[in-house]
Amino acid sequence: MPADRLLPTDEARDLIALTRDIADKVLAPVVDEHEKAEKYPDGVFATLGEAGLLSLPYPEEWGGGGQPYEVYLQVLEEIASRWAAVGVAVSVHSLACHPLFSFGTGEQKERWLPDMLGGGTIGAYSLSEPQAGSDAAALVCKATPVDDGYSITGEKAWITHGGVADFYNLFARTGEGSKGISCFLVPDGVDGLSFGRPEEKMGLTAVPTTSARYDDVRLPDDRRIGTEGQGLQIAFSALDSGRLGIAAVATGIAQAALDEAVAYAKERETFGRKIIDHQGLGFLLADMAAAVDSARATYLDAARRRDAGLPYSRNASVAKLVATDAAMKVTTDAVQVLGGNGYTRDFRPERLMREAKITQIFEGTNQIQRLVIARSLA
Ligand SMILES: Cc1cc2nc3c(=O)[nH]c(=O)nc-3n(C[C@H](O)[C@H](O)[C@H](O)COP(=O)(O)OP(=O)(O)OC[C@H]3O[C@@H](n4cnc5c(N)ncnc54)[C@H](O)[C@@H]3O)c2cc1C
Repeated sequence: MPADRLLPTDEARDLIALTRDIADKVLAPVVDEHEKAEKYPDGVFATLGEAGLLSLPYPEEWGGGGQPYEVYLQVLEEIASRWAAVGVAVSVHSLACHPLFSFGTGEQKERWLPDMLGGGTIGAYSLSEPQAGSDAAALVCKATPVDDGYSITGEKAWITHGGVADFYNLFARTGEGSKGISCFLVPDGVDGLSFGRPEEKMGLTAVPTTSARYDDVRLPDDRRIGTEGQGLQIAFSALDSGRLGIAAVATGIAQAALDEAVAYAKERETFGRKIIDHQGLGFLLADMAAAVDSARATYLDAARRRDAGLPYSRNASVAKLVATDAAMKVTTDAVQVLGGNGYTRDFRPERLMREAKITQIFEGTNQIQRLVIARSLA
């Protein structure tokens, strides 16, 4: 982990110290067991919630931590460097609070936001469907107006926290085309909502990802966030912020892989010297360190633009692209540094490499990030 983070306030420094303490005492001792058993760590989320780490970037008046995004992301990076699945979960929870916070009415916020940000609940974001991932506007889950609200019927896919979340941001069709999608806040446990079996994933196994079936789920009008047809705008606005979370998570994974590789290279000897002293391997480690620093720099640049109220959508896509590609390369190279040991589950880079892969896929694949960046140049 970087010993010398540039942080704007003493409070931010305290937050990083608190996060490292929790990472050492609460996350590190149980990560392997939960990942292997594919067991959801709800106790861990309770601890993070009590410490105020689940809602850092939201204003204190609504129960959040009132921290700038650049601080929130560095806390997230610290969490992910110890346990990627928990980092992703914190990021997805923050993503799921964004629609209500940014597009809800005062009344809706007063009713639900303090609970969502209070640390005792965890949220999910449900945009994808089996046939609509990158092409989110192709979603077909339908919200039909009924007397007192909406009836929701359809299939959603790939929900991080599916079946364990307390609330779901649902995007469903209320009309035709990309302007015919609306956003809803669905509480857990409503009649007609059921979840599929957790997907058998390559990594992030401690946090479930499931499909969901909506079968005539009834929601009152006040469960719609924003206006009818504003859903895709809300979804993409949330994703700009969420992508920065994924960039920070990816940076944490990459930093962890670099730390493991450097520690190993300082111990392992071949041809009568430590492997770190072979120039060929030293240069590999140097490239890994440069990739980690670049990843962190791009997400901090985007976060500082966001904190300053400047447009940052393109910068968020750059950060997601650079940081997640860095995570994939650095974790793969860390496996290489450990030689045969790197290919085994006895050593951490094997898991880090599996975890890095998903960061290039969710919240917009890196092809989609390139699309966003290219469009901003046209
Ligand atoms: C573990 C996990 C957790 C997830 N969590 C969530 C969640 O919480 N909420 C949620 O809503 N979704 C979630 N997702 C879904 C995720 O966001 C999608 O899988 C992702 O957006 C890609 O969509 P897809 O799988 O349908 O792939 P597709 O869209 O079918 O893409 C397939 C390939 O084609 C490429 N491609 C597609 N269109 C283009 C194009 N125009 N130009 C160039 N290349 C293109 C893609 O980059 C990809 O390589 C999760 C997925 C996983 C695996």
